[in-house]
This record gives sequence, C-alpha cells and structure tokens, in this order.
Amino acid sequence: MTKFSDLNLNPKVLKAIEEAGYESPTPIQAGAIPPALEGRDVLGIAQTGTGKTASFTLPMITLLARGRARARMPRSLVLCPTRELAAQVAENFDTYTKHLKLTKALLIGGVSFKEQDTLIDKGVDVLIATPGRLLDHFERGKLILSDVKVMVVDEADRMLDMGFIPDIERIFGLTPFTRQTLFFSATMAPEIERITNTFLSAPARVEVARQATTSENITQGVVLFKASRRDREGSEKRKLLRHLIDQEGEKCTNAIIFCNRKTDVDIVAKSLKKYGYDAAPIHGDLDQSQRTKTLEGFREGSLRFLVASDVAARGLDVPSVSHVFNFDVPSHAEDYVHRIGRTGRAGRDGSAMMICVPKDEKNLEDIERLVQNEIPRIENPLKKAKAEPKAKDSKDDASSETTERKTRSRRPSARSSAAKDVNESADAQAQISDAPSAEVDAPAQEQKAPELEKRASGRGKPAESKSSGPKSGQKGNQKSGRGRGGNDRGNDRNVVGMGDHMPSFIALSFAERRAG
Ligand code: AMP
Repeated sequence: MTKFSDLNLNPKVLKAIEEAGYESPTPIQAGAIPPALEGRDVLGIAQTGTGKTASFTLPMITLLARGRARARMPRSLVLCPTRELAAQVAENFDTYTKHLKLTKALLIGGVSFKEQDTLIDKGVDVLIATPGRLLDHFERGKLILSDVKVMVVDEADRMLDMGFIPDIERIFGLTPFTRQTLFFSATMAPEIERITNTFLSAPARVEVARQATTSENITQGVVLFKASRRDREGSEKRKLLRHLIDQEGEKCTNAIIFCNRKTDVDIVAKSLKKYGYDAAPIHGDLDQSQRTKTLEGFREGSLRFLVASDVAARGLDVPSVSHVFNFDVPSHAEDYVHRIGRTGRAGRDGSAMMICVPKDEKNLEDIERLVQNEIPRIENPLKKAKAEPKAKDSKDDASSETTERKTRSRRPSARSSAAKDVNESADAQAQISDAPSAEVDAPAQEQKAPELEKRASGRGKPAESKSSGPKSGQKGNQKSGRGRGGNDRGNDRNVVGMGDHMPSFIALSFAERRAG
C-alpha cells in the first residue's frame, strides 16, 4: 500500500498530514499526487468524501513552497462552485500549510471587496474563489492572472449545473497557456468532456469508483405519502417530517433536511422553528455571514437541524450527522447518493429517510435503478400517531386532522414531555405562521422554474422521460390513490351542499341508477 512518505511531498506538508491524523493516502490521493508533482495536468474523477481536496492541495503546496508571490499576481488558483466549498478548501489549506509560510486569499461573494483587495495587493500564493467573484475582481482591475502556475477546478459537474461553465472558460483564457491544470469532477458529462479536451494537456486520468452505491452503514427508508388535497401537500409533508423526526427520538442527534427548492428550504426551516425544533436554513440566496454562522453552529453541535438545498450542502464535510431527511425526492438520482452520504461518515451509523409524493415516484425509481436496490418502504408515522391537541382553527394541519381522527386515539409516545410542551404551545403560533406558507405551497407544487435551483439543461433529462412505468410490486397503495376521486367513485355517496333536502336519486351511484 502506498504511504504518504512515498509520494515526494514536502517534509513540512508530511508533518501536517501526520498531525491531521491521516495514516495513508486515499486512492484518489495515491493516483493524483504523483503526476501533479511531476507538473502534469490531472483529470480526477472523484466525488466528495474520497479525499480529493487533499489530492490537489498537497501537491500544490509542495510546488508552491519554492518561490514567492508578487503583488496582485496570485501563483495558483482554485475555483469552487459554492462559497461553502471554497471556504472548506481554504480550511484544508490552513491545515496542510501550518508549517509553511504560504499566503492565501478567499474570494467569495458576501464578503467585502476591500478586505479581499488588501490581501491580493500584498500578493498571495493561493487564491481560492468562486468564478463570479473572481471575475468581478478581475474586471475591477485588481487582479492579474498571468502568473498563475497551477489552476484547480473543483466539482466541475456542479459548476455545469450552476451555469458557471462560460465563466470557467473565460478564466482559463485569462491564465497562461503554460499553467498546470488539476481538474476534478464527480461525473463526466459531455460538456465536461469538451472542456477537458480543450483546456487540459495530455492529463493523467485518475478515476476512483463512482459512488453509485450507498454506504452499508446507512439505514434507509422512504414514506410513500399522498396529501389529502393538493394544496395541503406542503403543510402535510411538514407535519410528516416532524413525526419522522420525533419517531427517531434521541437517536436523532442532528440532521440535514434536504429540500429541492430554496423557497421550501425557508418554509421548512421556519415551520420547524415554530414548532420548537432547533432549525436554520442554508441556501445560496442567504447572506454569507448568516450562512457561515449557520454552518458553524451545525458543525459545533449548537444547531440541531440544518435545512439545506443541494448546492449549499454539496461537499460539506461534517463528520457526525446522525440523520438525513429528504423532504423531497431529489430530481437527479446522484443527488440522493450525495445527500445521504452526509450521514454515516467515517464508519459511523446513519439514517436516511425520504418523503415521496406520487408525482416524485418516477424520480424514486431512477434512484433505485442507480443504487440498484429498493429503498425500504417505511410506514407513515402519521397513520399510527396519536391525536395531537389542536387549537380549533388550525389551518396547517386541518386536513390531516380530519383524515386521521378515526385512527388516532393516544398521544404520541416518542416525544419527551418537554418537547411536547414546546411543540404544542408552538402549534397556536404555527397555525398562524404556517397558514400563509400553505398558500406558498400551492404554487410551489407546480415546480415553477424560478424557484428551482439553477440547473443547466445539459444534465439529466426530466425523470418522466427516462422512466418506463412503475416497478411492479412496489407501490400498490399509492397507485390506487392516484387520480381524482380514486377508483371507487361508485361508492362515493357524500354529496355536499344539499342540506336535508337532497333528492334521494342523487345519492345513488350511476350503476345503481341505471339498474333502477
Ligand atoms: P474530501 O473528499 O476532500 O471532502 O475529504 C473528505 C474527508 O476526508 C475530509 O474530512 C478530510 O479531512 C478527510 N481525509 C482526506 N484525506 C484523508 C486521508 N488520507 N486519511 C484520512 N482522512 C482523510
């Protein structure tokens, strides 16, 4: 097995690695570090969690240990799709450069230009940036990229999803032709292939096993759920989420809750908070200082529930997350693997639960096809839950209240009484605050384009066009519930609005009328 000491890394880098507690290089590190140190371009096909950050930072630091930066002319450049990833890469640099005198600057949105300008003016060895912010600095004439010796593109497939490829191409064009390029992507979409063919020169291709499989130490489950009415889907899903969380009790020490849309990230976080859960949202539209504070809180354990969009949470490395809840089924199957990979890290046990409404069943099939496993169906805890005390005019939960009244007879046992008190007193507030959000849910169901995370059209067709009809034996219950009124129209004798004067023939089914 390769050892770090076999890799020709700078002794001071080796010392930092040892202090970080790493025993041996991961496969992507063993594959990428030697060609990178030889000055070759590298095409790394690896996902987050494989140790890919160190596979480019360690050789970069070793190469940069010689020489000095000049004012406004960084010697190396790392491009990341999100601010969080850029900040994480910067942290990695700090860890590995602790015995070296290298300087870095982090150029991300939401941070004042002035501070960043001061750093750049002094001269930095490593510039870590999101593409938009880097180009802003360049256009303001504050940055010269003609001394870049090494350029890294991290998470290129996510750059593609976010529409950053034109920016990346432009940045490539601003750096010297002779630069060394280290390029990382989890997948090789045709557009990514094109970029690598254009901008990389005879790269060493290092591929580590694609993470199409989910870790065995993650317990997975999906609740197939159909709302009582379409316009109540959002509020009923939020209620279901609360029950899923409560059901886990103390096992759920902390969790990331993923939503497909930024609007839902906000709504779900707000609703959970109203019900007394310690939750905060994170997505690209939030102010950077707020995002940083939220993430720090979650990392340190002072925040229990992080409600997140895929982009904001992609690649985040929080070692102990006990649960992942997928409030929505992700529309790209690989995102499921990424999402649930936030739990069960470093050999720990983890749980991943998902809510699937009928319109998302095709996406669920795609996920099951990718992971080549059926995700176990779990019973809807609302069905077995006992009655929660309600104020009379509850709007949020009114619908499920009526449908569940018959089946609920006892109070929920999974919650602690303290939690109950908080949640119940929050009910009254949440009825008020969740009521408007129920209105937000109705248009959200249409999946309006502006509410979707920005995705380039190149990747993944809509699930509907990929799937070939429902899998047999998987969702009998759900199918029977599809369509207006279900299959049992003939038995539907409830006629609303006739009072006591309803003519009796109206209550007969068509079949009965015809027979009569
Ligand atoms: P990454 O894929 O770069 O996000 O890395 C995932 C996690 O693995 C980070 O917490 C790193 O600190 C850790 N890591 C990276 N390389 C190694 C290694 N060789 N041994 C143990 N842990 C590592």
